[in-house]
Amino acid sequence: MARSTRSMDWGFPRWRGYGSSREATEVRLCDRHGCDRPGDRPAPKSPNSRERWYFCEAHAAEYNRNWNYFEGLSAEEAAEREANERRSASGFAEASHYGWGGPGDGSRSRDEMRALEMLELDADADFEAVKASWRRLAKANHPDVNPGDAAAAVRFQATQAAFEVLRRAEERRRA
Ligand SMILES: [Zn+2]
Repeated sequence: MARSTRSMDWGFPRWRGYGSSREATEVRLCDRHGCDRPGDRPAPKSPNSRERWYFCEAHAAEYNRNWNYFEGLSAEEAAEREANERRSASGFAEASHYGWGGPGDGSRSRDEMRALEMLELDADADFEAVKASWRRLAKANHPDVNPGDAAAAVRFQATQAAFEVLRRAEERRRA
């Protein structure tokens, strides 16, 4: 596929704010929010799409691991899958009593971790950060803002699914 030449308009919304790198676009940067490494790893925006994100190596791996995980799931389905996983993984239910914890303390299910990564958050992000990130991504990918953009619609849906997983986890912890 032809590589894009220097262009101010790459034809797709980046997750970072527009305008942050309008100058000096000779090197395409990683599309992951806040990442300033060169984005030389194309990743399809959805399985059958020819549109591509361009990530650095680390974020390409992250994208492939996490984004697709929630793709095509409704919020309900994602929450149900997470609940099933938690039930089948002994220890999670008990550990969840300890509330939000740091990385690796076992208080989060794998789906919660994936949801956090999808919302571009670290493992110790609190629920306020979850809400803020969710609102930002949902707004950026909202169908009203991206009419006719199927890839954005898929991202929007996956964002909702990831948020639902985290919202229910928060409810459990408060219960
Ligand atoms: Zn990156």
